[in-house]
Amino acid sequence: MEGKDAKKYVNEVIEKVRERNPNEPEFYQAVEELAESLIPVFEKYPVYMENAILERMVEPDRLIMFRVAWIDDEGCPQVNRGYRVQFNNAIGPYKGGLRFDPSVNASIVKFLGFEQIFKNSLTGQAIGGGKGGADFDPKNRSDMEIMRFTQSFMNELSKYIGPNVDVPAGDIGVGGREIDYMVGQYKRLRGAFEKGAFTGKGIDVGGSLMRKESTGYGTVYFAQRMLEDLGKQFEGQRVIVSGAGKVSIYAMEKAVEFGAKVVACSDSGGYIYDENGLDVELIKQLKEVEQKRIYEYIDSYPNARYEAEKSIWMLPCDIALPCATQNELDEDGAKKLVENGVYAVAEGANMPCSHDAIAVFQNNKVAFGPGKAANAGGVAVSALEMAQNSSRVSWSFEAIDNMLQEIMSNIYDKSVAAAKEYGSEGNLIAGANIAGFKKVADVMIAQGVI
Ligand code: GLU
Repeated sequence: MEGKDAKKYVNEVIEKVRERNPNEPEFYQAVEELAESLIPVFEKYPVYMENAILERMVEPDRLIMFRVAWIDDEGCPQVNRGYRVQFNNAIGPYKGGLRFDPSVNASIVKFLGFEQIFKNSLTGQAIGGGKGGADFDPKNRSDMEIMRFTQSFMNELSKYIGPNVDVPAGDIGVGGREIDYMVGQYKRLRGAFEKGAFTGKGIDVGGSLMRKESTGYGTVYFAQRMLEDLGKQFEGQRVIVSGAGKVSIYAMEKAVEFGAKVVACSDSGGYIYDENGLDVELIKQLKEVEQKRIYEYIDSYPNARYEAEKSIWMLPCDIALPCATQNELDEDGAKKLVENGVYAVAEGANMPCSHDAIAVFQNNKVAFGPGKAANAGGVAVSALEMAQNSSRVSWSFEAIDNMLQEIMSNIYDKSVAAAKEYGSEGNLIAGANIAGFKKVADVMIAQGVI
């Protein structure tokens, strides 16, 4: 290992990841994005190469995959596949959400679990990285079908989790309702009330105020710091926020509170656009309360435009917050945004910008906040929920909001400082990757080869 070339080392690890994990493109994408930023760190501290830290990090502690059989409303048995990746618990119990979406597979779960290690480290809290879910589509399923599916899912997952072991939460397709069903089934299986085994619970089940809002608010708090450094603010700016789930809704809400004009958002069917600004309260009502599709918005605002199956990124804006899902913003979308004058992008979703889209932003000096930093507010408030559950206290909305703002600000400062220290001033991707990595890597060395 003596005198090993850092660039060569990183390329070898990436190559090995490709060989050992065939057909997992999202996982390679996440590994490559991280590993490339670490070359200057390995050059300065060869001890990480000597301890095979990167090789050990890209190999999850375990990947659990299981059958989820359940009975639908017609009385027919259905079979889905469940997953939990327990990636790294160097700094705390595995922590990360569960996603219920037909696209869920080993690659998706592993990319999310891998990202989660560094995101969680950046929050400054004692949480390791994990992720899970199932290829189950909750759309158009009745409440009872959701309950039966979730209970069956928990029958298997319950064997592997616990407040000090692995603490799941929500993600796409999993919110308070699903988590509360999980808490119920887990309690029944365990014969104990261990509410700290989950976060994102309903408030009366032991959840934290502000968990629902935290990812979206956090993304805007992070973006606000980015704007400040550009001598700008949200006030008066045109913002596009893709998606219409929890992250998107609360990013829109906070951006509007800061005086921005949110001109477009979307769901999997299409986008709505209103150059005068969208009515976020109505979107909240349609999506959260009535579980309707976004096109219904037009009934109340005939001057707004609905476009099915068109890219939201073709629309003009100053700030873009991709808050839907992975790789939703590609090279063409990025080029169009740049052409239309976008100057800041912050990722509310996990890895929503493709590798090529990021390159377009970087080449055009667009300020870019990567997901593992910009969307860390959700998991950060999850860790606050864990703290409240262990100490049996509950903090007010304002207290949590203040902590969230401080955490997002710290993540921003850490990322800026790390980027500067390693010769990539202003590059928040490099900064977030390096700062998130170093803490976990140092603890792994301290804990020995395991
Ligand atoms: N799914 C969220 C994320 O991507 C939150 C995870 C959690 O709260 O554990 O960070």
